[in-house]
Amino acid sequence: MSKKKFSPAERYAVWTVHGEKCWLCGEPLPYTDMHIDHIIPEKLEGTEALKGILEEFALPLDFELNTWANWMPAHATCNTKKLDHVFRPAPIILRQIEHAIAKSKTTQEIHDKYLSRRSLSIALDRVIEGIENGRLTPEQRDRFIAKLSVEHERNRSPEMHHQPIFLSPNLTILNEDKYRYTLKGPSGLIGTRPKGSRIDPSWDCPNCGPTGWNGTRCIQCGHLIDPD
Ligand SMILES: [Zn+2]
Ligand SMILES: [Zn+2]
Repeated sequence: MSKKKFSPAERYAVWTVHGEKCWLCGEPLPYTDMHIDHIIPEKLEGTEALKGILEEFALPLDFELNTWANWMPAHATCNTKKLDHVFRPAPIILRQIEHAIAKSKTTQEIHDKYLSRRSLSIALDRVIEGIENGRLTPEQRDRFIAKLSVEHERNRSPEMHHQPIFLSPNLTILNEDKYRYTLKGPSGLIGTRPKGSRIDPSWDCPNCGPTGWNGTRCIQCGHLIDPD
């Protein structure tokens, strides 16, 4: 059994083309938390079971498990849960494969753009690195995020246009007192969140859920509060 190792260009293309969401639970998917899931499990490669599945789906018997048509973005936790289950062909899965096949050309184009546009790959690289090791200065971070926003916007699926880019799920607690937490988001934004079990729901971000706010922005995903 071969275990595919994904390149940064492949990861970026799969995440972007499928709307930056987890295909298993439908929720927004932070880039750093993404696994690429094989719709038809990779471990079935070369087995009789795979032949049966392909026949049932009326897919060609030489259908490649490691192609755009079989790769979907998923949360690490959702993907791990799925791995414990026996795969069963179902119409909803076939629809997903057909959908991924239909997008294959666009996925390839996004992949190629990642490779050819250095400003995109460098900006994404640096921002992710900065999130993971916290070594970027705020000025550097803002510069790379601004660059990334411009480059990434061109590749996003229509429903994601002008949405915040959800790169990392991490919130760090910097401080707390009797009433509130002071939190730091993945891009370095600092904000607050009240304590207690009866917090007004408006403290949750419509985009990424429980979070802190720096006044106007969700510190986790950058979502801007509606002015009204
Ligand atoms: Zn998920
Ligand atoms: Zn948010």
